[in-house]
Formats: sequence, structure tokens, C-alpha cells
Amino acid sequence: MQSPGWLLLLLAVLLAGGGLLTWTRAEGSHPRIDAPEAILAGAAGTSVDLAISDAGSGLRALRVDFVHAGGETALVTEDFPGNLLSGGTRSEHGVTLQLDPGLLGSFEGEAILRVTARDWSWRGGFDGNESVRSVPLRVDLIAPRIEIATGLSYARQGGSGSVSYRLSEPVVRDGVLIGERFYRGFPRPGGSSSERIALFAIPSEASPEVRVAVIAEDAAGNASRARWPLVVQRRAMPNVNVTLNREFLEKVIGRFAGHGVDAGGDPSAAFDDINTRVRAENEARIRQLLADSSPEFFQGAKLEQMRNSKVTSTFGERRAYFFEGRKISNAVHFGYDLASFAAAPVTAAASGRVIYAGDLGIYGNCLLVDHGLGLATLYGHLSRLDVASGDRVEQGQRLGLSGDTGLAGGDHLHFAVLVGDTYVDPIEWWDVQWVRSHITPELQTSRR
Ligand SMILES: [Zn+2]
Repeated sequence: MQSPGWLLLLLAVLLAGGGLLTWTRAEGSHPRIDAPEAILAGAAGTSVDLAISDAGSGLRALRVDFVHAGGETALVTEDFPGNLLSGGTRSEHGVTLQLDPGLLGSFEGEAILRVTARDWSWRGGFDGNESVRSVPLRVDLIAPRIEIATGLSYARQGGSGSVSYRLSEPVVRDGVLIGERFYRGFPRPGGSSSERIALFAIPSEASPEVRVAVIAEDAAGNASRARWPLVVQRRAMPNVNVTLNREFLEKVIGRFAGHGVDAGGDPSAAFDDINTRVRAENEARIRQLLADSSPEFFQGAKLEQMRNSKVTSTFGERRAYFFEGRKISNAVHFGYDLASFAAAPVTAAASGRVIYAGDLGIYGNCLLVDHGLGLATLYGHLSRLDVASGDRVEQGQRLGLSGDTGLAGGDHLHFAVLVGDTYVDPIEWWDVQWVRSHITPELQTSRR
């Protein structure tokens, strides 16, 4: 006869073991679902990263459903290995779902992406713990419509232009493409929320056949483009030979020791280094500073040329620099040189906001003023700065005094105008007739 005590002990051990198994296999922690807060899908589709995990009994199943007013479609159904006795082998799983219009049945509007995950727990009548996450999904298959208000227009190589248009919906990016260059659009001052204006430049090196278009892209990535008749007029840029003397080179090269220029070596190599590498660094810095133009456009009929100044060099000159009979460097002159008396007052070409005041390499003591809608002016070689970055300035206000700082031989103002990231010929902006015919009409209220 076996002892009843022994049997009781065996029963107790079995019950305890079964209890422990039941306790671990019937765990109550639900799978975790990581998904975006909301999804916006456009005509080009979008990809969605989903991740599920279960630290308890392991992952058993994943299901993703597309739920909309007309019904439900299962996009993903996946089962993971395991059994009810020992649980699952998988604790984490990630999936990248490509939501294309075809997959969503060309549905357009508001819907739900429902993610369901289950684990290998005995709970839920042995079906496991279930987690459900409903992610709002908006499907927008309609690209913004662009209605261009501008008619036939003309722009010169190295010149500026403007175009106005209406958009059928809010967008995240709009503006003008001139070849590969992009000029962003702004709300048309005083216009309704759908009315836009973009200033643009025809880079001096652009072909007259350059492709031009207004583009718009909405938050779902739906993009459209529209064209209008723009005639690009060819313009020859003059070639100018500049002869440098040793005295000039010695004077200016020493100023660039802080820019990594070898001041002790061959002066012609040092000059070329300043005129190419340092120039390119300075131009890159200027583009950074200009990246955030104001939507408020300057009030005034035109830009104003520095008073009592004489033009000594014009826009677009292709300069070849000679030293001791040898060509040592090249550059394009993307501004006007204006000379007056030494330390002459330099005045603001138009109202705006100073976005840079300080040393800027080849431009010496330099000022950048933003006039809004992507239009800016640059003042170089100053001997003195009277304004600071962030200051608001009025047209004609004194900004500083002319000088010969940076890469300059004598006292003069280097004056340049930029539209977006492109230097343009200031002569157009100085001309009230040109501004009236090329810019003002697009700024004025809608003609229809
Ligand atoms: Zn210049």
C-alpha cells in the first residue's frame, strides 16, 4: 500500500505545476503596436512602418484592415509559429506597408487603417490577448489645380520676372521652375488665400529655350505643373580683361589669411584662390542667409540706385584677370560697381530687413537686405556699417559708408540684386517703367 501522504504530495506538486503553467500561459499583457498617429496617402502612394511586439507569450497573429464607409479589406494577415503549450517563438515583428491607390481600390477620402495583433496567451478563450490600433488614414488622389493669371510675358537672360496664379487647395510647395532652379511662391499681398505670386530669375547662363513652369505639390505628394507663355530674350554679356598689378595683389592677399589663403606664396595663385574658392564659399553663405525671405514685399515704385554714384562696372561681365601678361583667373561680375567720393553714404535701395551685417570674404564689410518675396540686395566693400542684422530699414536710409574692404582695389560700392538664389541685373529694378510693366500687375488684385 502506498502512503496516502505520498499521493497527496504528488497531487500538490501537479497542481502547483499546473497552476504555474496556467499562470504563465494565461498571461494578461497585450501585444504592443507601434504605428503612425495618422497617415496621408497621395496618388503616388505612401509607405507605412508598423511594428508589433509581445514580451509575454509571443506573437501569434497580425492583421491589417483598410476600413472605410463602403467596407473592409484585409491588407495583411500573418500568423506566427508557436503552440498553446509552449507559446510563440517570435516576440517582435516589423512590416512596411506600401499603400498604393490600386491596393486601396482607388478609394478617396477619410478611412481607417486598423491594426490587430494577438499573442499566444490562453486568455480570450485560448485566442490570446488582442490589441487593436485604429489609425486615421486620409487618401487624397487629387493634385492641386494651378490657374495662371499671367499672360504673355518677356524676360531677359540675367533678368527678373513675376507670375501670379491661383491654387485649388493648400499646398506644401509651390513656385516657378526655370530649368532646374526653383523660385518659391508667396501669398499674393492683399489677395485671397488661394492667390499666389512668385518672382523668378532667368539665370544669365540659361538657354532662351529653358523650360519654365509653375509647380504645386500638396501634403499628400500630389504634384502638378502649368505653363504660361514666357519669352526669354537673349542677351550678350560683355567680356572684360582686368589687369592686376603687384601692389594691388600684395594689398588684398594679406586680408584673406584667415580664409586659408597662402599669403606667402605665388601672388597669382593666391589671387585665384580668393577669386574662386573663397568666392564660392561666400556665395554659399549668402544663399543660406537668403533662404527665408519675408512674404511682405517692399513698398515703393522701384529700387533706388546709390545717390550721386557713377557706374564703373555692370552686371554679367565675364572677367579675365591678367598679371604680368598672363591670365591668372576668371569670374563673372554679378553686380554693379558704383563709385562716388571716398566713404560716401550707402543707402538702402528699398525698405526691408537687414539679414546680414558683417565680414563676408570677397565682399568685405557687407550688408544683405531682404525686401520680401525672395528679392534681396547686397552692398559690398563698405568701410563702415550703420545697421545690424534684424534691423528694419527704409528706402534711402543710410546703411553705412563705401570703402574698399574685401577684394576691392579702390573705394566703391559693389551693389547686387538677388531673386531667390540668383543674381539678377539691378538695372531692371532701378527702372520704374520696367517694375510697372513686369512686377506691379502681378501684385495687384485679381483681374477676374
Ligand atoms: Zn563689383
